[in-house]
Amino acid sequence: MKWGMVIDLQKCTGCGECVAACKLENNVAIVEPKESEMGRTMLWMDMLTVYEGEYPRLRVRQFPRPCMHCDHPPCTKVCPVRATYKNEEGIVAQIYPQCIGCRYCMAACPYTVKSFNWYKPEWAPGIRETVNPDVSVRQVGVVEKCTFCVHRLQKAKEQAKSEGRNLREGDFQTACAESCPAGAIVFGDLENTGHRVNSLSRSPRATRLLEDLGTEPKVIYLKEVD
Ligand code: SF4
Ligand code: SF4
Repeated sequence: MKWGMVIDLQKCTGCGECVAACKLENNVAIVEPKESEMGRTMLWMDMLTVYEGEYPRLRVRQFPRPCMHCDHPPCTKVCPVRATYKNEEGIVAQIYPQCIGCRYCMAACPYTVKSFNWYKPEWAPGIRETVNPDVSVRQVGVVEKCTFCVHRLQKAKEQAKSEGRNLREGDFQTACAESCPAGAIVFGDLENTGHRVNSLSRSPRATRLLEDLGTEPKVIYLKEVD
């Protein structure tokens, strides 16, 4: 079993729904505008913008960018206290109570997907009530990032076990995939030929970010059709 994600850039409209859904699902703290200007915005799913060509023939492309859950993750190799590791199903995880906040993993990640908690997370009145009880709120001084919504996976596994059956495709979706109105994000087991991600990952349009680094990302993009 190897969990992975396919993002179809032909379908993605750049609406940002996945970014918002991820933030709400995973209790990602909202940062003051002043802090944000200093590069302290917390996002587990980001929306990157790429400009191609020059005005007036300028083309703007946007693409969602979660953690790539690399099969050869540089981040796990540099952690001095083993607070980040790849589990047996390919998910790259953080152990918050073990993290000493050295940020070596942030420096090692070529996709810059990790965020450091500069402050104790705070929520405005009214927003506090929306905190998801299934996801821990990270303490100040630790590094965090996308988990492929592993808490949802855990729930789906327990449900399947209680019904005496194996996990099925569709039992579990990440919040970003579930929220995408265009159906551009597909999540599943890359090794299971019955899962959509398996066939999509072998599409002629399939590409991975910074593939030449040898990180073997498990987030695969399907290029736009020109
Ligand atoms: S994208 Fe960055 S944080 Fe995610 S597994 Fe790869 S190196 Fe680690
Ligand atoms: S910041 Fe935390 S997870 Fe990252 S390398 Fe340091 S201890 Fe490990």
